[in-house]
Amino acid sequence: MSTTIGFLGLGHMGAPMAANLVRAGYEVLAFDPVPAAREQAEQDGARVVGAAAETAAADLVITMLPNGELVLEVYAELFTAAKPGTLFIDCSTIDVADAKSAAELAVAAGHRALDAPVSGGVAGAAAGTLTFMVGGDAADFAAALPVLEVMGGKVVHCGGSGVGQAAKICNNLLLGISMIALSESLVLGEKLGLSHQSFFDVVSTASGQSWALTSYCPVPGPVPTSPANNDYQPGFATALMTKDLGLAANALRGNNVDGQLGLLAAEIYTRFNRTDAGRDFSAIVTDIRERSDSPSSEG
Ligand code: NAD
Repeated sequence: MSTTIGFLGLGHMGAPMAANLVRAGYEVLAFDPVPAAREQAEQDGARVVGAAAETAAADLVITMLPNGELVLEVYAELFTAAKPGTLFIDCSTIDVADAKSAAELAVAAGHRALDAPVSGGVAGAAAGTLTFMVGGDAADFAAALPVLEVMGGKVVHCGGSGVGQAAKICNNLLLGISMIALSESLVLGEKLGLSHQSFFDVVSTASGQSWALTSYCPVPGPVPTSPANNDYQPGFATALMTKDLGLAANALRGNNVDGQLGLLAAEIYTRFNRTDAGRDFSAIVTDIRERSDSPSSEG
């Protein structure tokens, strides 16, 4: 039996993900309010429908939307139109609390739901090598697996509803903090006469080692593929890091965690985002350098 997939949200991530599903032989009922996104999906071989609710004719429905409010809105619109027991898979990055609400509402409406946020960015979406972090029932995870494997290189069942989103924000909380920490350390090294290459040669194999340094070095030179070598073109845009740290900050507060560094990292990126939203998040090193050179912080 062939599976039909509804796909809502054909943006930077959703468009290539939907295209990979078409390529794998699925019939994709696609919707996005933006005409250019619909045209692209049509060219990619999807069956574009005129309204969100029409995607509910599918056997399973995937959403790849900007935020949790929209996911809840779209779900409310689709639940009445969908066949009983339809599996809803939300791949957007949203608040853990919204993900749990979405799943509860789906179950209350007689459906099934998974949260399945991703990492790997636009390049991973195009290559079909995303990492999926999935929250929800084991049986629903098993049903979703063949579809997720088309779009992903790694698919991990993390736990119950909302726990996929938890994995996503815990990782990005750590990444945001470690990029700031690394940048402060690099700028201190600069002030003390330590070259970027010497810093890299020592720290990459010492106890301060991190993925931010060895795979995504925020200064040009030591890691030729990092965005620093390409004028900080994203990569992973500051706007997205700021969004994820905001979700992490909500979760820290909501769960009474003494997350002082996480809350500060969210503030630091929120400030940087006001001027540099479209640059790669590793460009935070340039902000730290500039602020370190300003007269008010000298002396
Ligand atoms: P995007 O803004 O490019 O795409 C979102 C799409 O959703 C847009 O095309 C928009 O028109 C569409 N949309 C809005 N309302 C809709 C509705 N009611 N029905 C159908 N479509 C609707 O965003 P993106 O970069 O593709 O990111 C999507 C999600 O993936 C976000 O939650 C983001 O945080 C997450 N994410 C993005 C990246 C990345 O590198 N871009 C990486 C990991 C996770």
